[in-house]
Amino acid sequence: MKELSRADIIDILKDDSQNEALFSHADEVRKQYKGDEVHLRGLIEFSNICKCQCKYCGLRSPNKNIQRYRIQPDEIFKYAKSAVEQGYRTIVLQSGEDEFYTTNVMCKIIEKIKTLDVALTLSIGERPFEDYKAFKDVGADRYLIRIETTDKELYKKMHPNMSFENRVRCLRDLKALGYETGTGCLVGLPNQTIESLADDILFFKEIDADMVGIGPFIAHPETPLKDADNGNFTLALKVMALTRILLKDINIPATTAMETLNPQGRIIALQSGANVVMPNVTTTEYRAKYEIYPNKICINESPDKCRKCIEGKILSIGRTVAKDYGFRKI
Ligand code: SAH
Repeated sequence: MKELSRADIIDILKDDSQNEALFSHADEVRKQYKGDEVHLRGLIEFSNICKCQCKYCGLRSPNKNIQRYRIQPDEIFKYAKSAVEQGYRTIVLQSGEDEFYTTNVMCKIIEKIKTLDVALTLSIGERPFEDYKAFKDVGADRYLIRIETTDKELYKKMHPNMSFENRVRCLRDLKALGYETGTGCLVGLPNQTIESLADDILFFKEIDADMVGIGPFIAHPETPLKDADNGNFTLALKVMALTRILLKDINIPATTAMETLNPQGRIIALQSGANVVMPNVTTTEYRAKYEIYPNKICINESPDKCRKCIEGKILSIGRTVAKDYGFRKI
């Protein structure tokens, strides 16, 4: 089949009559290029303190109606260790943009976790090249930083005091440093166009993203977008399926935001192109507080219960849980 053009992508996104065919085609591509294994990544949301003001995000600094927390390095390590003992082969460290975690502090955390024989992904926002290099030098393997939207005007509106160019600079630096680089977008931001979603998909291809996470926008009551409509689950799924069809061999998570809008969201995503799930491996004291959007799933669950629950779901659809690190290139 010939490669989809921008016009083709737009047509597919606008036409809902062929959705089932799209999802099953994406599922076939996933099976052919990634097999039936699902990679579980143990997610540690280690700080909800953030200097940014992203209009959609509940962690934005102007939100005073949130209990802030910061997990200390020793405790982060403790969560990582027990996740590895449960069988995780990748740890993902995610946080707001919290300046407490200086280059040095982060390097020490990374070095220690890397003694556990595990792949390590960072998702801590925009940093200078030197930081990304330092983290890589001490063993970080992957980095996630969503472009969020490639519509520059919308980007500007959504991200006060930030720049689209710097976001792209981060992605290019990470690629140049040899990270497996993850990006992605929000689907359903106010005034986002279908055309710009097509551009998002083409952008993932252009920068040769190794991972792409796509999630619907969910309105948070303590943000300027509190009255906006939530994103549409099916549209987010279509953007994800098209990403699989265009970037065949990359890793694609079934995102938690998908499940927030649809009780079967992650399983449906796994059957429409996704091959990764990122269960939370911290305990309940922190889960509810990392409230990027409301009604996050599993906020009262333990790490052990989350792992068993998602494993059960994966096996029930005839898939297996991978035992290797799950890099893009095997
Ligand atoms: N500070 C890090 C991590 C951000 S949180 C960084 O800048 O990369 C991870 C992702 O949550 C964001 O990239 C964003 O796409 C998503 N997110 C934030 N607010 C959201 C909302 N209201 N609805 C859905 N997803 C949201």
